[in-house]
Amino acid sequence: MTLTLTVPPRTDADRLTGLPVAVIGAGPVGLAAAAHLLERGLDVVVYEAGPTVGTSVRAWGHTRLFSPWQYVIDPAAQRLLEATGWEAPRAASLPTGQDLVDTYLAPLAATPQLAPVIRYGTRVEAVSRQGMDRTRSTGRADTPFLLRLHTADGVTDITARAVVDTSGTYTSPNPLTAAGLAPAADLGDRVVHALPDVLGADRARFSGKRVLVVGAGHSAANTLIKLASLAKTAPGTEVLWAVRNAGTARLGADAADGLAARGQLGSTVHGLVESGQLQQIASYEIDDVRADGDQVTVTGRRAGEPFAVTVDVIVNATGFRPDLDMLREIRLGLDDIVEAPRALAPLIDPNLHSCGSVPPHGVAELAHPEPNFFIAGMKSYGRAPTFLLLTGYEQVRSIAAELAGDHTAARQLELVLPETGVCSTDIGGSSCCTTPPATATPAAEDAACCTPLDSATGNTSCCTN
Ligand SMILES: Cc1cc2nc3c(=O)[nH]c(=O)nc-3n(C[C@H](O)[C@H](O)[C@H](O)COP(=O)(O)OP(=O)(O)OC[C@H]3O[C@@H](n4cnc5c(N)ncnc54)[C@H](O)[C@@H]3O)c2cc1C
Repeated sequence: MTLTLTVPPRTDADRLTGLPVAVIGAGPVGLAAAAHLLERGLDVVVYEAGPTVGTSVRAWGHTRLFSPWQYVIDPAAQRLLEATGWEAPRAASLPTGQDLVDTYLAPLAATPQLAPVIRYGTRVEAVSRQGMDRTRSTGRADTPFLLRLHTADGVTDITARAVVDTSGTYTSPNPLTAAGLAPAADLGDRVVHALPDVLGADRARFSGKRVLVVGAGHSAANTLIKLASLAKTAPGTEVLWAVRNAGTARLGADAADGLAARGQLGSTVHGLVESGQLQQIASYEIDDVRADGDQVTVTGRRAGEPFAVTVDVIVNATGFRPDLDMLREIRLGLDDIVEAPRALAPLIDPNLHSCGSVPPHGVAELAHPEPNFFIAGMKSYGRAPTFLLLTGYEQVRSIAAELAGDHTAARQLELVLPETGVCSTDIGGSSCCTTPPATATPAAEDAACCTPLDSATGNTSCCTN
């Protein structure tokens, strides 16, 4: 139902004149959005909650990407960088998250065009329309957006003509329980965020401990391999692995995986299970997690029977979900299941696309009932785990063209993506990548899937969950 005001507010389009486009988040896609908007001659301001550029990427900075440099640099960003004398890294080499920040994001944020428009330490708490909650319709498109900002100095409201939300999902992990709810009790540091630096900064947290990794994706695999490596030198380290389903086909079908690199990641983890270095707890539905002295006890069901396990620390590698709270006053058109824009969801729903084979897409798929409001980047995929930076860069190219009034360019998709995706699901018990599509090139497959395990360091690349 739509409510209409009897006395409509001001509706003159002039209210938007001179206002910038607000970009939420200075991650790779937020910065790319700013670069495309500036190239189109639009004013932009980027609000970043963290103290620096790429705050979320830094958090998993020790992890190597599965995409080489040639697939993680946005073209408009590259044009800004090259004007400063910057040279692109070797196209085929694989950066870590920290390399991505140091070699690409930090220099990009320091360019004379971007440096003045990024506001660090500024969390966007809420987005609305000036004087209009979500129930008001008349003149909505001509009414400035209102963003509530939280900084060290307090709370301020600012206005914008359009909003691009590229705030990612890294800071909102899925909860541990099968019901999708947070455990009832506060567990403190007994539960660790996905992708801890097991062999580096976080080593002491895991050395000699009984550790439970929860999750069936590549983040879980990455952590499990590093924990198994740690266990060789840190006596008493015990590694358990809980997965909700009977199998772990998301980690590839071992030797049957047509993508050798990902198959190696999967077969390494399965080999660790077979050799007893990891204890797998399959078909485990977690109902609750409670503190138990210094330890933590997980309770749930296996094959309908009660099952409990007590450990020192849990790594939550169950994936991520979008934080939609700050968009409460915005009219969103989200899919019921994936929480991605409705037209995009069928293209990425992990229940339907076991390999994340996502066609390039732009404003047509990203539009919401709210005019001039877009969610892009990792957050646009909602709960689907298959986002690729290249896809995000094409999204923001299209959005910038649309906001500049170039509706034709906005709908002319310029990106040719690999047909293979990033991860697979347990649907059907196998990975669709076991039979790579005829059109996918080896380079495209490499970019889309995981890279070989470095047996010396335990380093692998990894997918988003
Ligand atoms: C371990 C790992 C490996 C990956 N490897 C690859 C790969 O090889 N290839 C690939 O294509 N993709 C990869 N991805 C997926 C994806 O490309 C990355 O997650 C990427 O960082 C997403 O970029 P983003 O800009 O959308 O979001 P993010 O990088 O998450 O950036 C979002 C930014 O928004 C800020 N923010 C959050 N909330 C607010 C707020 N309310 N107000 C203001 N700022 C806010 C955050 O601090 C952050 O800086 C990987 C992901 C992970 C986790």
